Amino acid sequence: VASLKIQDLHVSVEGLPILRGVSLEVRQGEIHALMGPNGSGKSTLAYTLVGHPKYEITQGSIEIDGKPLNELDACERARLGLFLAFQYPIVIPGVKVADFLRHAITNIRNPDRKEGEGLIPMREFRKELKAMMDELGMDSEFARRYLNEGFSGGEKKRMEILQLAMLKPRFAVLDETDSGLDSDAVRVVSEGLRKLSGPQMGVLIITHHERLLEYNVPQFTHVMLAGKIVETGDASLARELHNEGYSKVRLRHPEEA
Ligand code: ADP
Ligand code: MG
Ligand code: MG
Repeated sequence: VASLKIQDLHVSVEGLPILRGVSLEVRQGEIHALMGPNGSGKSTLAYTLVGHPKYEITQGSIEIDGKPLNELDACERARLGLFLAFQYPIVIPGVKVADFLRHAITNIRNPDRKEGEGLIPMREFRKELKAMMDELGMDSEFARRYLNEGFSGGEKKRMEILQLAMLKPRFAVLDETDSGLDSDAVRVVSEGLRKLSGPQMGVLIITHHERLLEYNVPQFTHVMLAGKIVETGDASLARELHNEGYSKVRLRHPEEA
């Protein structure tokens, strides 16, 4: 199986060190939860994985299947099978959900395609999209909506899950900030991810949300404090953190607290 391997990763933002030696390996088929108090660096790791230019790798490496990601742009990372849910949080005027997905899957499946060359055939695409939306219990009307225009929290998550379903990445990184997730949004992500995850997909989910982790029980839970992963455990660690917060973890790691 393939793996997403992060080794001794140090990342600075505007010259300020944020990640200070993060190592983490996610294999296809595994679910990892990343938890940690606000400001500990979880989103920094997610942005670094997508290749956001503000996040400078000063040391260490990220590899998929032994291929270093450091020098690759977001598109090339996607072709290696990496998916980041917040990669396209944009409003593109006049672009519908279905158009966007057709472009996205064409780019991934046909990487040598020249600008202006054909998209995957409409009939084939429609069939695939419909099958997937049926499986996910989504109203087919959603595919005709304009991308992100007036999307509710739940609809943004529907888009996220539908992208995941259509792109079928080997590795999915979901940064599900707990603030602003209403109950519809939580349900969409929890149930969607449960339907889509399986032996072909490795998942790194950044969340504290109990329901999300109940529906998608992590084999590994990592705790980040001040830019380092200080502990790794199983699902029971996620439950402990959920119930008791970070005070005990901080006591166990006074040097990072
Ligand atoms: P978390 O997701 O765990 O809440 P973040 O990765 O968002 O943590 O933030 C970690 C630290 O990095 C914080 O101190 C935050 O202020 C800083 N930081 C993150 N992104 C930026 C940025 N784009 N510009 C400046 N500081 C940033
Ligand atoms: Mg935060
Ligand atoms: Mg964050």
